[in-house]
Amino acid sequence: MTEPTAPVPAATPTEDAVRAGVVSGFSALYGYEPDGLWSAPGRVNLIGEHTDYNEGFVFPFAIDRRTVLALALRQDRRIRISSAFSDTVIETTVDDVRPETLSGWSAYPLGVAWALGNVESFSNADEGAGVDDRLGADLDTVPGFDVFLDSTVPIGAGLSSSAAIESAMALALNDVWELGLDRQTLAKVGQLAENQAVGAPTGIMDQSASLLGRRDAAVFLDCRSLDAEVIDLGFAEAGLALLIIDTNVSHSHATGGYAERRASCEEGAAVMGVPSLRYLEIDDLPRAEERMSETTFRRVRHIVTENQRVLDTVRTLRLEGPGAIGPLLDASHVSMRDDFEISVPELDLAVETAQANGAIGARMTGGGFGGAAIALVPSATVPALETAILAAFAGAGFATPTMFVVNAADGAKRESLD
Ligand code: ADP
Ligand code: MG
Repeated sequence: MTEPTAPVPAATPTEDAVRAGVVSGFSALYGYEPDGLWSAPGRVNLIGEHTDYNEGFVFPFAIDRRTVLALALRQDRRIRISSAFSDTVIETTVDDVRPETLSGWSAYPLGVAWALGNVESFSNADEGAGVDDRLGADLDTVPGFDVFLDSTVPIGAGLSSSAAIESAMALALNDVWELGLDRQTLAKVGQLAENQAVGAPTGIMDQSASLLGRRDAAVFLDCRSLDAEVIDLGFAEAGLALLIIDTNVSHSHATGGYAERRASCEEGAAVMGVPSLRYLEIDDLPRAEERMSETTFRRVRHIVTENQRVLDTVRTLRLEGPGAIGPLLDASHVSMRDDFEISVPELDLAVETAQANGAIGARMTGGGFGGAAIALVPSATVPALETAILAAFAGAGFATPTMFVVNAADGAKRESLD
């Protein structure tokens, strides 16, 4: 969790080059050919921040940056895994893979191998999970595997390189172990791995976007029911592009502010006597304000208003198209900055500069405390906006941000080997 943010290379290798590199990397490392290739994308959250673990609404899309992995089954129960990002091969066995035995980057993919045997069916506050809800596969007889992977998702930028690696692994093992789990369950597997093996108390959003995403569309996800609806974005048709402005300020999910915000949300729900903040609406806010500390109330207000903004964004997209959602993005940023207090000066500057230079809407995205902002901007304006942001960051004495346009892409899939 502490690795520095990897700068995005000026020219990102094409998906073809990454696929070829992963196959040749696998062969060079292990001395034989992989059985197959799987990939899964990172994601950007258009709107709905910190609402996922409050059983609310999120609206992310899968991006055209992916983790690609080559995998082969073995005759025994051994596991070997390596990444283009690391010099070492991690070795273990299917029997030894448990949250307590995992650490470092391999906790993400190997946590998935463990979670496939331990996931429970999705349960919500209305119907608690019982013994019968155990969906985890029986891993007592499955063979071990060798994996080599690479990724074009920038690490630690809030674009969920973690979900990309988890989702690629979950889909690959579901295929080769013939587990027959559906994609919603695989999302839960990735979340379980991240919560238990990595120790990051994150929600279900990232894995859902990575597994359920579609080209030119976003995933409207109800994090209570897990109902997911794929909604056309229409950015290209409207001449709009989504620019990522990665501040290169590193964030960490496992410690500090993230866990604190989560605790405040739980406290707010408990005070209001509801299972989660999802059950509160805008009209409940005056009552909430009377009952809790000023800080807890602002945390609660962010979640409640953000849920409403997600619903408004989906409705606005359908009724008026993408050109009309800008004010909702702007309002989301203000709420995260002032009520949830998860922005940093670099993110605020990115958003303000975008808004002043042609963006129709902008906000920080991801967990906060660093990472990236997004700006929805007429495509023709992108170069001028990039120049303005570089100048603003230089003027403020901030590190140079990394900027690139993302397109909504397909979710996790098996790739052809040739
Ligand atoms: P984010 O998901 O925002 O990129 P996280 O801190 O949640 O940031 O996850 C990043 C971590 O995921 C990295 O520090 C590393 O441990 C792991 N990871 C992601 N992609 C790879 C990769 N291609 N190879 C090795 N580890 C990776
Ligand atoms: Mg992550």
